[in-house]
Amino acid sequence: AELWDGVPLAPPDSIFKLTASYKADTNEKKVNLGVGAYRDDNNRPWVLPVVKKATKILLNDENLDHEYLPITGLPEFTAGAAKLILGPNSRGITEGRAVSVQTISGTGANHLGALFLSRFYGWNGAPKVYLSNPTWANHHAIFKNVGIEPVDYPYYDPKTIGLDFNGFIGALQAATPRSVFLLHACAHNPTGVDPTEEQWKTIASVMLEKGHYAFFDCAYQGFASGDLDRDAWAVRYFVEQGVALLVCQSFAKNAGLYGERVGALHVVAPTKEAADRVRSQLSVLQRSEISNPPSHGARLIALILNNGELFEAWKADVRTMAGRIIEMRKELRRLLTDELHTPGNWNHIVEQIGMFSFTGLNAAQSKTMVEKAHIYMTGNGRISMAGLNRQNVGYVAASLDAVVR
Ligand code: PMP
Repeated sequence: AELWDGVPLAPPDSIFKLTASYKADTNEKKVNLGVGAYRDDNNRPWVLPVVKKATKILLNDENLDHEYLPITGLPEFTAGAAKLILGPNSRGITEGRAVSVQTISGTGANHLGALFLSRFYGWNGAPKVYLSNPTWANHHAIFKNVGIEPVDYPYYDPKTIGLDFNGFIGALQAATPRSVFLLHACAHNPTGVDPTEEQWKTIASVMLEKGHYAFFDCAYQGFASGDLDRDAWAVRYFVEQGVALLVCQSFAKNAGLYGERVGALHVVAPTKEAADRVRSQLSVLQRSEISNPPSHGARLIALILNNGELFEAWKADVRTMAGRIIEMRKELRRLLTDELHTPGNWNHIVEQIGMFSFTGLNAAQSKTMVEKAHIYMTGNGRISMAGLNRQNVGYVAASLDAVVR
């Protein structure tokens, strides 16, 4: 037998496969609603104006070199990133309990966080992590890779196209004490369904009571509401309440830096002394994984976070992106409800938040959208609002109408 005969052929990644099919489609009306990246109203990738400004500043800096960054990353970046998600006056920061490590975007933060827990968390039995049903598919793979078994907790209720709050709370209560729960900080992917502030308060109190650990994934800060602080509310509330937690942070979406791989892992420890030990072990793990994180994107974000003028410009850019998405939600709902009188209730389109919407379409209907209408979306009925624009929203609404009738 040949050396790699035993290697089975893996299926292609479903999202990237969808994009490839979209690109190969020659139909003029084709629409890509699978993509998890922001597009402007002309369906083009958008380089944020503030990123262009920061790039010019970097290009003109004669003193920049290509030396290695420290293992835990660019200090101006990690310090700014921690303030952004935890809040500038967070007790975690002022008391020296927050450990921040630069990572390969949000994926790398999830991986490093999972790897750290796999080695050092005080597991009550076999390592497992509770993931919302459904969640970003990569969560399953990332935890499995480090020997942590993913188990589902109820999250999405297809009957209401909303949150299964009672199911969620029931799972928190039923889990053994000190279980690890992955929570989407805002703009849940793939459903677009977030808990309300009141619901977050209940979740936090049950987690405190049970001694559960919150593994926050925050890939869309600013993208949900257009306001960076508002989208960090849940994380900040949990820190204030003293829930044990870590946060995975990505700048892919909110700064449009997808390919630059800018992110951070923040672990809020109970004491400064514990934080120092956690930092030392994260450094050891990072060393054997990537040695040193990449510098370019971190330099851009460090400039933006630490310069008042650039920070304000960034906030405006974030509002532009979130605002366009919110407009598209309103327009799609208006077309379905007021113009086409499409059967069913479509309020969830405007109630859901962030880049994605669960339409409520089943697998067969989603497939029809792709095959008959050339509208590319995943089989679970998820659409990316970023793929909608003033030119195609009418066509998408008419196609949705046709598929549910
Ligand atoms: N978590 C969630 C929930 C996401 O949707 C994404 C992006 N699709 C990520 C993490 C990580 O993305 P990136 O590695 O590009 O930052």
